Amino acid sequence: MSSPRSARLIAVVTAMTSLTVSAPYGTAAPALADTTTAKVRTASAGESVMTLDKEPTTLTELRREAQKAYKSIEDANRALVARQKKFGTVEKALAAKLESLQQATAELNKMRKPLSDLASSMYQDPSLDGLSPFFRAGNGTETLRRIADLDHIVAGRNNVLGDAVKLLERQQRLAEEAQELRAASLLQEAQLSAQVAALRKRSSSLVRSLTKALIKLGVKISSKGAGGCDPTRIGQAEQYPNGLLPQTILCPLPQAGEELRADAAIAFADLNIAYKKRFGTSMCISDSYRSLSEQQSIYYRRPGFAATPGKSNHGLGLAVDLCGGVQNFRSVQFNWLEANSKRYGWIHPDWSYHSPFEPWHWEYDPQLGAKL
Ligand SMILES: [Zn+2]
Repeated sequence: MSSPRSARLIAVVTAMTSLTVSAPYGTAAPALADTTTAKVRTASAGESVMTLDKEPTTLTELRREAQKAYKSIEDANRALVARQKKFGTVEKALAAKLESLQQATAELNKMRKPLSDLASSMYQDPSLDGLSPFFRAGNGTETLRRIADLDHIVAGRNNVLGDAVKLLERQQRLAEEAQELRAASLLQEAQLSAQVAALRKRSSSLVRSLTKALIKLGVKISSKGAGGCDPTRIGQAEQYPNGLLPQTILCPLPQAGEELRADAAIAFADLNIAYKKRFGTSMCISDSYRSLSEQQSIYYRRPGFAATPGKSNHGLGLAVDLCGGVQNFRSVQFNWLEANSKRYGWIHPDWSYHSPFEPWHWEYDPQLGAKL
């Protein structure tokens, strides 16, 4: 059913979709040969973005999958831009090639006319007596020379004609390839857009599931406005100064009134489930995210008990101060946490063992957490 052309188009699309996000781009435009244009390779979003082994169930899994989907959106968008750029370059090169071919054809056409005229006029030369020079009596040498000239000119005209036909064919082939490339480009763009839309949908559905799961754990999340607990936005956290994180990056904890950066909060909620299983109660929190003004207030009220305002990990939404027994070094609670927190991305930092000695201070390590 498929014509050679559509077969070639399919080949183009297949070649493009088989490439991954990591395909190099920004390299020089591929050299153009008329017949290899269809094989131009471009970056595209890998098909791997949509793969998922099983539906996430735990908070950490939900967080990871939501972040993965979000990152895939960014990757797909980047690939789309890279691809558009590359297609632009290739199309430009094709257009330039077409133009030079058109020029060459025009030149040939210019040559063809006088050659053709000359050939016709020689055929009609009265001294050759019309159409049958071979049968004409008289000066044989002169006639033969003229016939040879005529043959030469006719052959030249035929060559020019042949060249013009070849050039026209090349032009046509190139135009077809340009059109196929454009069609393939549009098709790929549509596929990528659909992929991005699906990823967006998946990402926000995961964030909703995550929010629902947290609400079930007793976390008070307002359903108004942006609402929810969205770990996909933590990439923006670095844009904000310590103690001035926007509400969209923060997420409340099961412990009323406490909040942390979304990824830390989700990990803490997971850790809290394990703690509750072991001790029958939730963890006790005396402090979590501290805004800059809160940091300043504590710093001046209780000098030595808080880091310099603007330097604390509390201001990054990545630290908690715990009570309920954990604050006592080597208590059962402290030891349990020390042994188990890493599995949730939480650590008791080295400095807090001695300078200053703060057994109550625990931190979320985003790098450790990102591996979970
Ligand atoms: Zn602290």
